[in-house]
Amino acid sequence: MKFATTAIHIGQEPDELTGAVTVPLYQTSTYAQEAIGKHKGWEYARTQNPTRSKWEACLAALESGIAAYAFGSGSAAVDTVMRLLSAGDHVVMAEDMYGGTYRLASKVLSRFGIDFSYVDMRDLDNVRNAIRPTTKMIYTETPTNPMMTITDLRAVAAIASSVGALLVVDNTFATPYFQRPLELGADIVVHSATKYLGGHSDLIHGIVATNRPDLAERLQFLQNAVGAVPGPFECWLCLRSAKTLHVRMDRHAANAMAIATWLESHPAIKAIHYPGLPSHPQHALAASQMSGFGGMISIELGSLERARHVTEALRLFCLAESLGGVESLVCHPVSMTHGSVPLEQRARLGITDGLVRLSVGIEDVSDLLADLEQALA
Ligand SMILES: *Cc1c(COP(=O)(O)O)cnc(C)c1O
Repeated sequence: MKFATTAIHIGQEPDELTGAVTVPLYQTSTYAQEAIGKHKGWEYARTQNPTRSKWEACLAALESGIAAYAFGSGSAAVDTVMRLLSAGDHVVMAEDMYGGTYRLASKVLSRFGIDFSYVDMRDLDNVRNAIRPTTKMIYTETPTNPMMTITDLRAVAAIASSVGALLVVDNTFATPYFQRPLELGADIVVHSATKYLGGHSDLIHGIVATNRPDLAERLQFLQNAVGAVPGPFECWLCLRSAKTLHVRMDRHAANAMAIATWLESHPAIKAIHYPGLPSHPQHALAASQMSGFGGMISIELGSLERARHVTEALRLFCLAESLGGVESLVCHPVSMTHGSVPLEQRARLGITDGLVRLSVGIEDVSDLLADLEQALA
């Protein structure tokens, strides 16, 4: 079955009880049992919820996994994946990460005896050199937020398996429509479904997928034991959103490509980061592991004053954190999403005061271009 059909049919079967074409919202905390030890397979809604199970089945199929587990946020999903580890374990993590994941690693998990090395994964030697006897996980994000760098997933998967470490990939930016890390050798995929999977800027949600039975069993245990589960309504909204994921992603990517091409030759732009541009230093690598380049673009405007002026002058691009919704957003990473990344690290990565990130929506692209033109003038 092809992607678009899977998105609309797997986990989205008509309700067995009533024939309802849309999966029902099971807003319940518990389930009646017939007698002691005799029940329908549903006991308590932290452990299982039918709406959640359908969404988990849908996302698992979209990511080419065997199972998926949903969480109350992307951050809760990342945190639960990290609980596969124990004190004394070491993780090699990409240094150009979502700020909240960096904060979770450096300010929370490190206090529990998990060690992290942060490396620039564009150079595979950095990954190899960071490996220790205690390395149990390699964690990356590609394309990265906000610098849009690409990790060679096939190569990093080979390094991970050669040392017996797990490869975990945050696939939030690409979505399974454009990139399926499990097919490229990753063991676990993580999403902030708050972004493209939800797609309408109306929910907070996370999800994890795997293609390994042993990991599926442990993740299911952790989902129940830690309990960072979502409500069923968010799962229901994600099922609704999955049905249009392919259509939305095609438009996000087409609009972003048109805007990136136009911005690249604009005199006010000092640098542009979009993996779909042939001038992106890792364009060929991106094209070898992604079937499209997504809707995220970062631009360097040169100064805080320029960034302030442009973000305030934009009318359709709303100044807000987050990304991946149908409406276009603009964000200033230094002051909004990446404040927790230390100054020197930000400077090394290129996250400057003049950097602005665009989440290109699915509006008519001519209106978006006109908005950018007047704001940059
Ligand atoms: C937003 C985001 C997260 C965190 O997800 P929440 O749903 O906000 O908790 C993790 N990774 C990436 C790449 C993100 O963009």
